[in-house]
Amino acid sequence: MDVILFGPPGAGKGTQSKFLEGVLGVPQISTGDMMRAERKTGSDLGKQFDQYMSSGLLVPDGLVIGLLETRLRMRDAVGGAIFDGFPRTLAQATSLDSMLGGLSRKINLVLSLEVPTSMIVDRISGRRVCLDCGQAYHVRYSPPPATGYCGSCGGTRLVQRSDDTESVVRTRHASYLAETLPILGHYGGQVVVTVDGTGSVQEVTEQLLSVISAR
Ligand code: ADP
Ligand code: AMP
Repeated sequence: MDVILFGPPGAGKGTQSKFLEGVLGVPQISTGDMMRAERKTGSDLGKQFDQYMSSGLLVPDGLVIGLLETRLRMRDAVGGAIFDGFPRTLAQATSLDSMLGGLSRKINLVLSLEVPTSMIVDRISGRRVCLDCGQAYHVRYSPPPATGYCGSCGGTRLVQRSDDTESVVRTRHASYLAETLPILGHYGGQVVVTVDGTGSVQEVTEQLLSVISAR
């Protein structure tokens, strides 16, 4: 099954993708995580990503699509994937369609998380991520274990993402509205299912699972 987890920055896509991986038996493919990993290597490609990411702008389509093509060819993605943070433009959506078409696959479901802007600001400002494995926490809603170590990998460095500052988040939200939201029209009513993303992590997971099991 190929599923897009759709929604504005901070809606909970990464958090929910991690649960859905276990249920659907397919990997989460997060272009944001892949770019942060590349950035950490200090490579030229990572530096190119950083030019855009640090100011909240979208990385150019050519670079993102290349990254995704390589990832889709990996063995664990042969039976499907959960796309998190991709596609973010219409050009990325049409490329994804043709990449999947070449594998006799298509997007089966777009789960669109709806969360009001005020709640997104609250979620992003409280987000902390593990510098070692990328696991996201929230200072109030999903706090890390009391030990202060990452519950996933034991890492000790739980930090605020450098692009989670107010001005960068504003730019990211603006590109979501201008460039990413129109993708919903591209996929259309049959495939797109809107899910209320305002409940607790567990409540949202339950809603997503009920949509998936009804398919
Ligand atoms: P996205 O991947 O869409 O940018 P994340 O999954 O990283 O969003 O979630 C953003 C922040 O909100 C994180 O700090 C996460 O712990 C928190 N969060 C995610 N889902 C919920 C929820 N349903 N209720 C409260 N906080 C949440
Ligand atoms: P995310 O981790 O999804 O919040 O993405 C963090 C940043 O990475 C974004 O603000 C963009 O700069 C960049 N990025 C991630 N995915 C994409 C994408 N599909 N297209 C363009 N830029 C992306």
